[in-house]
Amino acid sequence: MKPIYYPEPFRIKSVEPLHILSREEREEKIRAAHYNVFALASRDVYIDLLTDSGTGAMSTDQWAGVMVGDESYAGADCYFKVQDAAKEIFGLPYIQLVHQGRAAEKVLLPILLAGKKYAIANMHFDTTRAHVELAGARAIDCVTPEALDTTAQYDFKGNMDVARLEGYIKELGAENIGAVIMTITNNSAGGQPVSVENIRETRDLAHRYGIPFMIDAARYAENAYFVKQREAEFKNSTIPAIVRAMFEGADCFTMSAKKDAIVNMGGLIGCRDGKIFEAVKQRCISFEGFTTYGGMSGRDIEALARGLKEGIDEHYLKYRIGQMQYLAARLDEAGIAYQSPVGGHAVFVDAKKLLPHIPYFEFPAQALAIELYLEAGIRACDIGSFMLGNDPDTGKQLKADFEFTRLAIPRRVYTQSHLDVIADALINIKERAAEIRGYKIVEEPPILRHFTAKLAPLA
Ligand SMILES: *Cc1c(COP(=O)(O)O)cnc(C)c1O
Repeated sequence: MKPIYYPEPFRIKSVEPLHILSREEREEKIRAAHYNVFALASRDVYIDLLTDSGTGAMSTDQWAGVMVGDESYAGADCYFKVQDAAKEIFGLPYIQLVHQGRAAEKVLLPILLAGKKYAIANMHFDTTRAHVELAGARAIDCVTPEALDTTAQYDFKGNMDVARLEGYIKELGAENIGAVIMTITNNSAGGQPVSVENIRETRDLAHRYGIPFMIDAARYAENAYFVKQREAEFKNSTIPAIVRAMFEGADCFTMSAKKDAIVNMGGLIGCRDGKIFEAVKQRCISFEGFTTYGGMSGRDIEALARGLKEGIDEHYLKYRIGQMQYLAARLDEAGIAYQSPVGGHAVFVDAKKLLPHIPYFEFPAQALAIELYLEAGIRACDIGSFMLGNDPDTGKQLKADFEFTRLAIPRRVYTQSHLDVIADALINIKERAAEIRGYKIVEEPPILRHFTAKLAPLA
């Protein structure tokens, strides 16, 4: 029986033309980009799957809000709207606007981590890890072991390993830990969901030891949808009720609104404690702007207030997660492995399995990303050894646990036909997989090299 996917709960009013280059033109473009997809111009890309962050399509209501947005420096109308929407959705009493997720981290984490040595998360997103380290602490990941096996069928691969977390707290000393962080969904594990049960256990454990419990909430809505599908207690709950259950008792949250709130720029901080919030406001004024706009234009705040609600619409979420499931099912039919069951914002193709003859130091996930561009003008990216880089002490290439080529799907942007192009391209590549060669690096900066490194194909 063919599974039923849920089609777009919208129709298209305005279209953005795409360029379709010939194979020869794409060969020329990727060579000129030194085989690094970050160096490609977006006009030379047909389907852009580099990220789902800030790349979503706003609704007619959001665009209408752009015109309504109040640009007053203090106390703008849109400020009150976003306050009302966020307090209602998340249930925390204090909300601060910031311009994106990492700004929220920059403002909040030094407050939580002052005089502390560690933050422990199910998994830290890269910018979260960076801000933990900038605050003088170390970031420890504590994800459930099922996440490390791409073929293991497990409903909540994003979960915290609670027993191991307690082990760390005892070993490192609760007084040295500034925050226990839950990233929902767990981006780095492949957009994998976290159960409410696991959120509650983690929160209660943190509180038992007097440690603040923080949520990294970028994909609050996608996580709630998975909970409804997979966690028995919530199968008859509404998405807003599940979101409230996820945030119940959380001390604070940071959020990149560029994901589930479907805006191109924006972020939020939420707090339960008035004293922490006072410190947040002061840091926000220094780094982001006055408290009622927090580094954002009024028009963008208005779009955010509306997007927060659109993100938790169940028809939208069914379509959204349905897109991942549709693409994943086409890959299943073709025997192409990915982090499975598929997560919420991307399909993470297992390049190690598709290109087993390419060793990690010749970057199989990068090789697959380049093939996708050559085959069909698709821009994906390496989440593997190419991204991981070199050991800072020895300068030797590190070996990543995974070699993923990530296909991040922007919200409300591509149709099911585009998804078919992606699946067909991967199937064509699989047929000639044995001929595909690895790459070597010819030039690289010392840190975050994957953004700017230059590569060359191996003979
Ligand atoms: C995107 C993201 C961030 C950072 O947000 P930006 O808006 O890109 O600064 C933090 N955490 C998670 C889980 C994210 O996905």
